[in-house]
Parts: sequence; C-alpha cells; structure tokens
Amino acid sequence: MEYRQRLKYHKRIIIKVGTTSLTYPNGKFNLQKMERFARVLTDLRNRDIDVVLVSSGAIAVGAEKLGLSERPRDVIGKQASSAVGQAILMQMYERFFGEYNQKIAQILLTKPVFDAEHKKRNASNTFNKLFDLKVIPIVNENDTVATDEFNEFSDNDTLSAYVAAIVNGDLLIILSDIDGMYTSDPNKDDNAKMINVVPKITDEIYSLAGGSASMLGTGGMITKVQAADFLGKRGIDMVIASGESPEIIHEILEGNNVGTLFVGNKND
Ligand code: GLU
Repeated sequence: MEYRQRLKYHKRIIIKVGTTSLTYPNGKFNLQKMERFARVLTDLRNRDIDVVLVSSGAIAVGAEKLGLSERPRDVIGKQASSAVGQAILMQMYERFFGEYNQKIAQILLTKPVFDAEHKKRNASNTFNKLFDLKVIPIVNENDTVATDEFNEFSDNDTLSAYVAAIVNGDLLIILSDIDGMYTSDPNKDDNAKMINVVPKITDEIYSLAGGSASMLGTGGMITKVQAADFLGKRGIDMVIASGESPEIIHEILEGNNVGTLFVGNKND
C-alpha cells in the first residue's frame, strides 16, 4: 500500500503540540487554536480512534502568570514556572474539551519511568485503561522533578516518541513551527524542497537534519529525526507538520501529502 494511504487506517495516534502552537510569543494562550485542537481531537475520539495529546506550554504559561519578563533559562526557574503553568494548562484543556463533553486526564512522566520495566508497565496499563474509558490522556514531562541532564528529556519530541512506543501507537504526529523536513534550509535556499516521505532513515537524513543551523537546538530537526528513527524501528509511523492549523491532523489522516512522513518499518 502507498505509504500515505495506510495513515487512513491508523487507530491509535499520539499528537505532540509545541508551545509555539498553543501560545502567543508573550506566553498568553492562543485560545482560538486550543479550541480547534480540542474539537479536532474530540472528533478523532468520536471515530473510535485512541488519542494521546503530548502538550508543552507549562513553562511559558507559568512564566506569564508569574509576571516574568521572559521564559526562565535556569533549571529551577523552569521548574517553578512549570509547576504554576501545568495546572493552568490543564484547566484550559478541561474547559475546551468540556465544550465537547470529552473526558481528559493528566499524565506527567519522567525519563526514569521508561528505564524501569515495572514503572513502564504501570504507565502503559494506565494509558490502556484510559483508552477503554474513551479518555484523552494529556501528557507532559514532570518538569518539577526532572532535575538534571540524566533525568530529563528536555524536549517533548523525545518524550512523545517514548509515549508512542509504550502505548503501541500507530502514528506520532509532531506539530510545531517546523512544517516538515527540507532538502536544504528553506530560509537560505530558494530551491529547498519539502521531503514528503522518508521511507528509511539514512545517514544522509541525519546529516540534513543537523546541517541546518535554524533547525538545531532543543526540539529542533535533529531530535525529530532521532524520534522518527526510534519509532521506525518499532514499526511506528511519524509525521512532522505545521502546528499553524489544527485541522491539518484530519488531512494527515486522510492520507494527504502534508508535512514529512517518516515510515515505520520493523524489518529495516
Ligand atoms: N515540558 C515543557 C513545558 O511544558 C516543554 C518542553 C518542550 O517544549 O519540548 O513547557
């Protein structure tokens, strides 16, 4: 089957939404967009598709609430902002999903959960129970206890890939300000073309991801390619697309050529 066509049949989908897709640069909520995300995800749930939302935004929203002039850069400052912001984030989701009578749950995870078999099993049992109950789990990193470089994911791209793996997902969709993977940096090269499908992650793909300065950094292209590589080996598809319009999720699931699809193939 053509790679894009199989996306039509996926029944368990993980959607990762970045801070810039949920908030304005000043840290305040983009209410329009959150409302549309809630509507689209509820619609998937109504079609009996299991949905997990991995949502960033806690630090930005917390910093805004605390009146900080900019997003904190130090670990402790991020943790404090996240502790404030996470509660507000969930309150907003509760309100928007409540509009459609969709039940949600909060799951906060840290890296050590995925390193310990019994903790991983507990987490996956909870997800499965929530799917049975038709709830949409909303996941973030538990920033307050993810204290150092050994414990933290530091970006939700990696976290969402781990989540997709423990729930045996069919597809991870990463929505952000990067709308796909290009043959070269589109900001510098007019001939840069979006790569629609990556059937296999090769060294060339890695070097394309690392080769563009604008795509580096936390949650940049390299972390996305690593996430796709990790998932691909487990037979899980991944799509990177623009978080500008939440309805793009429907387009992806209709098999349309949007963003970049990294094909999952266990046998590679
Ligand atoms: N956990 C962080 C937050 O909620 C986000 C990390 C990321 O954006 O990758 O603000």
